[in-house]
Amino acid sequence: MQDRFLKSIANLPEALAKAIVPMLDKDFAGHLDALQIEELKTASQLTEQDLLLALLPIAAALARVPISNFYVGAIAKGKSGDIYMGANLELAGEALFHSVHAEQSAISHAWLSGERQIEDVIVNFSPCGHCRQFMNELVEGQKVNIHLPEQKTQPLSHYLPYAFGPTDLNITEPLLTKQQHELTLDSSDPMIIEAVDHAGLSYAPYTKNYAAVVLETKDGLTFSGRYAENAAFNPSMLPMQMALSNMARHNRDFSEINRAVLIESSKGIVSLVGATMDALHAVAAIELEHIVVEPE
Ligand SMILES: [Zn+2]
Repeated sequence: MQDRFLKSIANLPEALAKAIVPMLDKDFAGHLDALQIEELKTASQLTEQDLLLALLPIAAALARVPISNFYVGAIAKGKSGDIYMGANLELAGEALFHSVHAEQSAISHAWLSGERQIEDVIVNFSPCGHCRQFMNELVEGQKVNIHLPEQKTQPLSHYLPYAFGPTDLNITEPLLTKQQHELTLDSSDPMIIEAVDHAGLSYAPYTKNYAAVVLETKDGLTFSGRYAENAAFNPSMLPMQMALSNMARHNRDFSEINRAVLIESSKGIVSLVGATMDALHAVAAIELEHIVVEPE
C-alpha cells in the first residue's frame, strides 16, 4: 500500500480497512470499479452512501496543498457504477487561480476515464461556489446528487438555485457528452498523437479552442488533460491543470516531467499558451511544446 494512505486507513472501520488495503497498491490513483465497490459494501456492511462517505479520507489523501494545507477529497460516481476520486491541488508559491478543486479533480478523472454522466458527487466539505458552477456544466448537472457528511443528500439544484449554465448559451451537448472534433496533424510522435486525440475530445463550446496537454515523465509514462470550459468562464478547467491533477492522483512528482505538449485548434478565439507555460514553469524547468492544429 502507498504511504500516503496510512493515516486515512488508520481511521477506517476495521472491516473496511482490511478489504480496501489490497486495492491501494502502487498503481492506485483513485479509481474503484463497480465490482470493487460491491466487494467493499459486503465486507464493511455499510450502505453505498455510508461507504462512499467513509472513503473520503482516502480521496483527500490524494491532495497536494502546499498553500492551504487544507485537504479536500471528492468522489464522482459515474453512471457505469465506477467511482473516481479527486482532491485539491495547489502550486507552491503561485497565484491561487492555478488551483484545482477536489470536485474538478474527481470529475475530470471520470471524464478522462470515459464516463458519460455523473450521478453523484461525494465531498468532505460543502462545495464552494466555483465547484457548484463547474458541476452545473455537466450532463443533467442540476440533478447531480451532492452527498456531504451529516447532511441530507440534495441535488445540485438545491445548492445552486436560479443557476446560469450552458443552456442559457444554447449549448445542447454539455460537459461529459462525447465530443468529437476532427483535428489532424501528421506526426509519428506517440505523445503528440495522444495529445491531438485528447484535444479532439475536449470541451470548448465557447471559444472553439479544442485543446489538450500531455505530460511525459522521465520513465516514459504520460498524463493527459483536456480543456473543459464553463459557461461562467472562470470555473473552466485548463488542460495543464487537469494533467497536473492527473499526475498528483498517480502520486508522481512534478519534477519528473520530461516533456510537455499543448495542442490547440487554430480556429479557437483564445489561446491557452501563456497560461499553460505559466503553470508548467511553476513546476518544471522545461520548455512547452506548443502545436497549433488545423481542424478538418
Ligand atoms: Zn471548490
